[in-house]
Amino acid sequence: MTADQKLVLLTYADAARTAHDALTTLDQHSGDGDFGDNLLDGLDRVRAALDTHPSEPAFHLAATVFLDEVGGTSGPLIGLLLQEIARGLAAHTDDREGWRAGVSEGLAAIQRVGEAEPGDRTMVDALAPARDAFEAGASFGAVADAALTGARNTADLRARRGRASYVGDRALGAPDPGAMGVALLFWSLAHVAG
Ligand code: ADP
Ligand code: MG
Ligand code: MG
Repeated sequence: MTADQKLVLLTYADAARTAHDALTTLDQHSGDGDFGDNLLDGLDRVRAALDTHPSEPAFHLAATVFLDEVGGTSGPLIGLLLQEIARGLAAHTDDREGWRAGVSEGLAAIQRVGEAEPGDRTMVDALAPARDAFEAGASFGAVADAALTGARNTADLRARRGRASYVGDRALGAPDPGAMGVALLFWSLAHVAG
C-alpha cells in the first residue's frame, strides 16, 4: 500500500481548515485557544512550500516548516513527528514500514522533549495507540481509528502536561486539541491510501 506523501499533507491541510473552529474551541476550553491557528497556519505554510519546492521530499519539507516556523508548544513537537516520518519513508521502500518506523521514532522524540506519558492528556494519547496499531500490523484505516479513539478518550483525562495542566478539572469532558489534531494526520493518510 502506498500513499502519495504530498497528497497526504494537502489532505491534512484541508482537514485542518475544516476542523479549525472546533480545534480552537477545544483549546479555549483547556488552553489559550491558539491550537487551531497554529496547526492551520503550519499546514498552509507547508502547502506553499510544497508549491515552491516540488521536488523536495514532502515530509522533510513539512518537518522543516513546523520546526522552524510554527508556534505554540505543538509546532516543534509536530515538527519532530514529521521529521521522523520523513526519515522512515526515506529509509524504507515499503510505505507501511516507513510509516511504522516513523511514527515509532516520532513518538519517542516527542516524549524525549515533552516528557509526557500516555494518560497525561496530550498528543501522545493519539500517537501511542497509532504506534501500537502500526506495530500490530494494522491497516492505515485501523491506525487512524486507533488514533481517533485515543484522542477522543482524552476527554476523560486530567492534564499533567502543557497549559491544560493549569486549568484542572475545567478541561474534563472535551478532548485534548493536540491529540485531535494529530489524529487528523492519520485520518488523512487513511483517506489518501484508502
Ligand atoms: P500552547 O499550549 O503553547 O498554546 P498549542 O496550543 O499549540 O500550544 O498546543 C497545545 C497542545 O500541545 C496540547 O493540546 C497537547 O496535545 C500538546 N502538548 C502540550 N504539552 C505537551 C507535552 N509536554 N508533550 C506532548 N504534547 C504536548
Ligand atoms: Mg494553545
Ligand atoms: Mg499558545
